[in-house]
Amino acid sequence: MAKKIENVGCPFCGVCCDDLVVTVSDDGKKILEVENSCIIGSTVFHRAMSERHTLPRLRQPDGTFKEISYDEAIDYTAKVLHNAKKPLIYGFGSTNCEGMAAAAKVAEQAGAVLDNCASICHGSSFLAIFDNGYPSCTLGEVKNRADVIVYWGANPAHAHPRHMSRYSIFPRGFFTGKGHKGRKIIVIDPRHTDTAQVADIHLQVQQGHDYDLFDAFRTVVRGHDIPDVVAGVKKEQIIEAVDIMKKARFGTIFYGMGLCHSDGRNHNVDIAISLTRDLNDFTKWTIMAMRGHYNITGPGAVWSWQYGFPYCLDLTKRDIAHMNPGETSSVDLAMREEVDAFINIGTDAAAHFPIEPVKRLRKHPWITIDPHPNMATEISDLHIPVGIVGVEVPGIVYRMDNVPIQYRNVIEPPEGVPSDEELFERIYERLCELEAEDAAREPAKAAPEGARAGE
Ligand code: SF4
Repeated sequence: MAKKIENVGCPFCGVCCDDLVVTVSDDGKKILEVENSCIIGSTVFHRAMSERHTLPRLRQPDGTFKEISYDEAIDYTAKVLHNAKKPLIYGFGSTNCEGMAAAAKVAEQAGAVLDNCASICHGSSFLAIFDNGYPSCTLGEVKNRADVIVYWGANPAHAHPRHMSRYSIFPRGFFTGKGHKGRKIIVIDPRHTDTAQVADIHLQVQQGHDYDLFDAFRTVVRGHDIPDVVAGVKKEQIIEAVDIMKKARFGTIFYGMGLCHSDGRNHNVDIAISLTRDLNDFTKWTIMAMRGHYNITGPGAVWSWQYGFPYCLDLTKRDIAHMNPGETSSVDLAMREEVDAFINIGTDAAAHFPIEPVKRLRKHPWITIDPHPNMATEISDLHIPVGIVGVEVPGIVYRMDNVPIQYRNVIEPPEGVPSDEELFERIYERLCELEAEDAAREPAKAAPEGARAGE
């Protein structure tokens, strides 16, 4: 008989819906139905078994792939890391925290740079938060308390489809019993997005001028005059929006890539935080980044706990972690050609990086660890398939509001296919063996404690 599994977490976007109900076949091998998810989440489960490889694939001299065993793939990866002077291990948007911690062990042992997708998305948020703090809250507080919602440079209708129905606009909460009817929605975006269509107010900010508009908001909040038009938005519209914001009982600004990836970048987020702080002189306001992948908040949490830094971690000195975005960030390292081996895990660097760093990274060994084929796997020297977190592998993920959630698996991975955590643990063991072999072969030249062999 088919089995229904409740409270399943969705391994796609940062909303981390954990109310899915998944029906699996009586032998526990097939996913038959997914309830409560959006179409994207449903597709993640239904396509789990399609386009899968169940063995690693190694590139051959003629350019084709040949299937090899997991032991061979682990040996290959450990040797690549062992022989590289400065390997880069990047990605982690789509794996669990256990996998991230295991990868960090490998990075430390190999003397690698450890970086995650924030490097090319919300890294600018980190910089602003370091400077200006993060007056945030949980999504549960938004659902139960918020009566004014601002989406700035974010389009959840497409990128986070259940964000509005689960937490921000539509749900009825403890103090928000009227749901949508009791809330005011302000969307600030240069485009008339689908999110803007459900807003009470849509301010069509001029592309790249968000900072100016924030500045105008802050000026009005403090009771000063502004020009007739700022960043393409009329003074009356700004005054109307600020009036609504000041009268809120509890407000939240959700911001997305429209701030982080337009002119101003971290300064846009910085001034958004300052506006939130200003509004707290009048009422309760909070701010939250719309994180993309379901566990891209995870590496920030795991590595900050382990090393004190959330991303761009240079572990090449082994005894000390060093973070300096611009210097130790993946794209910058690739552009300066400092990296001589690349491990891409749980993300598609070939699709997300600009083409030039991809070309430069491709000059050296490139290994991709991912359940499914993608652009990165197809240009890699080695593709190692792993189990799908949230579908085949359980584990902890961090929702966009930094709340950890225990995900479960609904089916088992294909026989012999390891989880990211198991894979990195085995790479770590092989790496230690290689170092021990070096030390036994040439004890006089063996690497001293705390330094990498070969350096
Ligand atoms: S909103 Fe995001 S987390 Fe929720 S079901 Fe859709 S894709 Fe999954």
